[in-house]
Amino acid sequence: MTEIITGKTKIYCIIGYPVEHSFSPRMHNAVFAALNMDARFVAFSVKPDQLGEALTGLKALNVAGFNVTVPHKSSVIPYLDEITPLAKKIGAVNTIRNEQGLLIGTNTDISGFIRSLGSLNFSPENKSIALLGAGGAARALVAGLADAGASRILIHNRTVEHAESLLTEFSPIFPQTQLESVSMETLQATTLDLLVNTTTVGMESGESPLDLSQCQEIEHLADIIYSPAQTTLLKQAEELGIPAINGSGMLLYQGCGAFTFWTGKQAPEAVMQEQLLGWKE
Ligand code: NAP
Repeated sequence: MTEIITGKTKIYCIIGYPVEHSFSPRMHNAVFAALNMDARFVAFSVKPDQLGEALTGLKALNVAGFNVTVPHKSSVIPYLDEITPLAKKIGAVNTIRNEQGLLIGTNTDISGFIRSLGSLNFSPENKSIALLGAGGAARALVAGLADAGASRILIHNRTVEHAESLLTEFSPIFPQTQLESVSMETLQATTLDLLVNTTTVGMESGESPLDLSQCQEIEHLADIIYSPAQTTLLKQAEELGIPAINGSGMLLYQGCGAFTFWTGKQAPEAVMQEQLLGWKE
């Protein structure tokens, strides 16, 4: 990042509601500084009923690129000029590039998650995977893991209808993957290559979304919560000797993917990682 803001300074941002807690400004400004780029990253709180006006404004002001977070990841799609094929299948976008007035959207949450599985030496191809949860993050993970070749995906959610609506939507799009909505009992009785927690359980309370000791066999575990760094579920996994990761890799790699999508440059991972280590939400 150059020290002074000039007439040529490129502006990047994140839009969300709320957005104040976002890690993205810290991470991307550190990258601009490390690469001495004439660019800045800011956060804009955009209310749901003002999304259209905000996008018109971002385009008119020639903002170079932006991230999109909750609750706009799906509602932003009608405003885009182009969308990458996987983001279209997922039905959610978290990164947008402004290419001479055309807004191009992609989803780096899912590529970030799949890349984070690398630290478990895990590839989704031909694997049986179970997801806890059926919210926004689960939606991206179901589509992304199916697209990456998972043979079977079980979904368990507190509200069964939310899991079933994901199945109804994604089963025709990913016919090669067996998608099922299951009870906790069925999930616990199934041998799994990977279990992923996508619920918010464990973020604020010390609760765990399931009792791992009651599960048949789980080879790997991912909890996409990144704060706290070790949820009760991850602690249980450690005690049971199940290789596990938290959500910080997903967060880091979605940022790397966004930076590359905007600039065409390789992201300096170490700089981003350092910010993540020093970050308290
Ligand atoms: P969301 O759309 O609000 O979905 C929340 C999910 O949690 C739903 O399936 C909900 O079930 C379930 N849930 C909530 N409270 C529960 C409870 N007491 N018992 C059982 N299930 C419960 O949220 P999201 O955007 O998907 O985010 C989910 C989590 O992923 C958050 O912790 C977020 O921080 C994390 N995340 C991490 C990253 C990353 O980069 N690492 C990226 C995105 C999200 P119902 O359908 O029954 O309400």
